[in-house]
Amino acid sequence: MSELGLDQLPVRADLRGMTPYGAPQLEVPVALNTNENPIPPSAELSAAIGAAVAETARGLNRYPDRDATRLRADLARYLGHGLSQENVWAANGSNEILQQLLHVFGGPGRTALGFEPSYSMHPVLARVTGTAWMGLDRGQDFRIDPEEARAAVARHQPTLVLLTSPNNPTGTALELETVEAVAETCPGVVVVDEAYAEFRREGTPSAVSLLERYPRLIVTRTMSKAFALAGARIGYLAAHPAAVEALQLVRLPYHLSATSQVVAKTALDHATELLASVDELRAERDACVTWLRNQGYTVADSDANFVMFGTFSDRSAVWNGLLERGVLVREVGPPGWLRVTVGTATEMARFRAALLEVTHQA
Ligand SMILES: *Cc1c(COP(=O)(O)O)cnc(C)c1O
Repeated sequence: MSELGLDQLPVRADLRGMTPYGAPQLEVPVALNTNENPIPPSAELSAAIGAAVAETARGLNRYPDRDATRLRADLARYLGHGLSQENVWAANGSNEILQQLLHVFGGPGRTALGFEPSYSMHPVLARVTGTAWMGLDRGQDFRIDPEEARAAVARHQPTLVLLTSPNNPTGTALELETVEAVAETCPGVVVVDEAYAEFRREGTPSAVSLLERYPRLIVTRTMSKAFALAGARIGYLAAHPAAVEALQLVRLPYHLSATSQVVAKTALDHATELLASVDELRAERDACVTWLRNQGYTVADSDANFVMFGTFSDRSAVWNGLLERGVLVREVGPPGWLRVTVGTATEMARFRAALLEVTHQA
């Protein structure tokens, strides 16, 4: 093929110079970099998924249920709080949900506001939908003070506020007071990205409990993390039925394949089994936080399945040292910090051993 560079294509001016988002996908023995659940579906569940997909395959000449009705009803039941199918929307990962939200509520002339450090896809999605992004700093310990948040939202009048709880990459869960303060002040919609909700510590609330009181509040969730289903690409949201209706204006017809829908439904039928690993991972997470603190590191409190720790004068060197020992973590967060996903007990032991080696050499 003849030579062709991106600069010879009519790429939108505001996208020029961008690089695609994503962590390095490297083949390593211990992958602790993308917050996946390390425990694969059981043989029984994968057989059930296989059987359900085989059955669905017999009808693949037809388009899928465009509204994913049965899956949404099951997701609503899983969330509880009196929610039903009209309150729930599903898509290919919560990333697609977030993209749809920005398509329908963002766009040129509008502002989305978030508190950083946070999930770096949020500003990327704002950018590709032509939405202005306003990233404000989280406060001490990566918390968001309710009154400071209220004042910021009142000042900037965003159409969309994105709160992440538990936050990625810090692990910080928000107090409900913060969500309430933002929801009371925001002239637009308030999205709480709860990708890690199932991992939160005992007594930490979810914004799902606020949906009834705040009609313009939207909570996004995913099956990629706690449900150990990252490969299936299923995300969803809970909101007022009007918000769900609004999303249908921008969704592609038949966006969620028949196989995706049935895989998600089958996994939900096995929710108890899938979520059993969550308790194990939470215990492993708490042990990791304690161990790192005992080693003298600064560690952010975590309600998620990862831990952010530091600080290193040369974090890239530590990241590389770990990688040389077969342990892949993520170089993300404020300068000097690293983030490690909680793996199995064996994987965490390898992480600890590798970190000791690397830092004693340094
Ligand atoms: C992992 C993650 C998601 C998205 O995951 P999907 O696989 O697209 O569902 C969304 N938000 C945050 C904060 C995440 O860390």
